[in-house]
Amino acid sequence: MSEFTVVAIDGPSGTGKSTTAKLLAKRLNYLYIDSGAMYRAVTYSVLKNKIPAAETEKIIELAKTLDIVLQDEQVLLNGEDVTSPIRNIDVTANVSAVSAIKEVREILVAKQREYSLTNSVVMDGRDIGTVVFPEAQYKFFLVCDIKTRAARRQQDFRDLGQEIAIDRIVKELRKRDEVDTKREESPLRKADDAIEVDTTNMIIEEQVECIYRKIVPK
Ligand code: C5P
Repeated sequence: MSEFTVVAIDGPSGTGKSTTAKLLAKRLNYLYIDSGAMYRAVTYSVLKNKIPAAETEKIIELAKTLDIVLQDEQVLLNGEDVTSPIRNIDVTANVSAVSAIKEVREILVAKQREYSLTNSVVMDGRDIGTVVFPEAQYKFFLVCDIKTRAARRQQDFRDLGQEIAIDRIVKELRKRDEVDTKREESPLRKADDAIEVDTTNMIIEEQVECIYRKIVPK
C-alpha cells in the first residue's frame, strides 16, 4: 500500500461526480483525476480517425499510441487541448462502446494507477473503487434520480453552447447506464465497502461537505 491516499468516487453520469471530486480534491489538497476524460480522449481520437466501433483491433492499436495528459483543468491529447471537444454529444454517444474494450481499459487503468504513486488523489469514474483501486482508503458511490441527472447534463451541454432536448439526454443516459453496468469488463457497480451518497436533493456544496466530513470528521 502506498504512502498516498486514494479517494475513489464512482457512479453513473450526471450524479455530480466530477464537480464534487474536483472541489473535494481542492479542499483536501489532493490531485484530481477524471478517469472518464481519458476514455473520452481515446473516443475522440477514434472518431477523428474515422475508425468504426466494430474495429476493435484498430482502436486498441490507436489507444497504445496516445499521449493523454490531465493537467489542472485541461485534457491534452498528443499535445492538443481537447478539454471541450471530448464533452460533445458524438464523443458522449460513442464512449461507452470504446470503454467496453478490455485492452483499452488496461492501458488507461495503468495510467490511472501511476498517478497514485506520487500523489494523494481523488479519482472519479465507474470502476475506481472496484478495479483500479480496490484498496482505496475511501470509496464513495453517487446515485441520483434520472430526471435530475438529465437536467444537470443538459446544463453541461448548454455551458458548451449545445442545446440538446431533455428526452434525448434521458435516452442517452439510459443507454450509457445499460452498457456501463452490463459490460463484461469492469462494469459500473458499487464496491461492497463504498459509501452510497444520493445526490438528488443536494447542491454541489452539500455533496462536497457530506463526503469531506466522512474523510475529515468535524
Ligand atoms: O464520467 P464520464 O461521463 O465522463 O465518463 C464517460 C464514459 O467513460 C462512461 O460512460 C463510461 O463508459 C466510461 N468510463 C469508464 N470507466 C471509468 C470512467 C469512465 O468506463 N473509470
